[in-house]
Amino acid sequence: MAEKISVIGAGTMGNGIAHTFALYGYDVNLIDLNSDILNSALKTIEKNLARQVKKEAITQQQADETLARIKTGSDLSLSSDSGLVVEAVNEKMEIKEAIFKELDNICDDKTVLASNTSSISITELAAGTSRPQKVIGMHFMNPVPLMKLVEIIRGYDTSDETYAYVKGLSESLEKTPVEVNDFPGFISNRVLMPMINEAVFCLMEGVAEKEAIDTVMKLGMNHPMGPLTLADFIGLDVCLNIMEVLYNGLGDPKYRPCPLLKKMVSAGKLGRKTKEGFYKYD
Ligand code: NAD
Repeated sequence: MAEKISVIGAGTMGNGIAHTFALYGYDVNLIDLNSDILNSALKTIEKNLARQVKKEAITQQQADETLARIKTGSDLSLSSDSGLVVEAVNEKMEIKEAIFKELDNICDDKTVLASNTSSISITELAAGTSRPQKVIGMHFMNPVPLMKLVEIIRGYDTSDETYAYVKGLSESLEKTPVEVNDFPGFISNRVLMPMINEAVFCLMEGVAEKEAIDTVMKLGMNHPMGPLTLADFIGLDVCLNIMEVLYNGLGDPKYRPCPLLKKMVSAGKLGRKTKEGFYKYD
């Protein structure tokens, strides 16, 4: 029988992670505190599977079987006999820490506990459990069913066995795993966010208009999206939060968040989700 996987948090990332594991034959428990979110996660998964069927990437039978493999619930103890639990709740240390402690108490000794965090220390999450060698970062990219990368983050005590297990699972999903050690921002955000932050400095200092900054990076560097457009997509609050993690965690002034980024977040201009960031959206 296929390995059981549990996903905690059924938001943007959680529903994509559940979709992907179930599509590749794993039985999945999708767990969230909020039953409305669980219902809408199932609807999103159904819609995204239908899109894959339409593109002839999968068959209708595969889509039906995928949905049938996903069970939902609100109780963390559903995950007790899973091989792997992937936590994908809000990016708040106190919430994640409490979930890891509870999972550590209720899960089988063999269960590996992974976090999809973008910026929280895996070493710190692991230290709150009695199984730090079985705690790891599994950083999927959005949208999960389409993006090939999984950044696998090794905490201070993560064992080779745990790493090999999570690497193997990622490959079974036809993803490309990349091994990263636990440092603030890992690789993805350590490289991406300072570039976005620098683009905001260019705008603030009047080096160029926003469209010009985005065009240079799109046409000159072959990026699919300019950095200011991308920041609007990600959310300016999320970008600021990650710059603060880099600044505080690495203690180097080169990571200081741009004052314009801070000002826009204070003004509630968070990007697409508030219909205004560097650009306006209908
Ligand atoms: P989200 O806000 O869309 O979803 C979070 C979900 O967690 C919500 O449905 C909430 O009800 C649920 N939740 C909160 N506390 C819970 C608890 N105690 N038990 C069960 N469920 C609980 O968030 P998201 O964008 O999916 O992000 C989730 C994680 O993934 C974060 O750590 C984020 O940094 C990371 N991440 C996000 C992206 C992205 O593009 N959105 C990309 C990579 C990584």
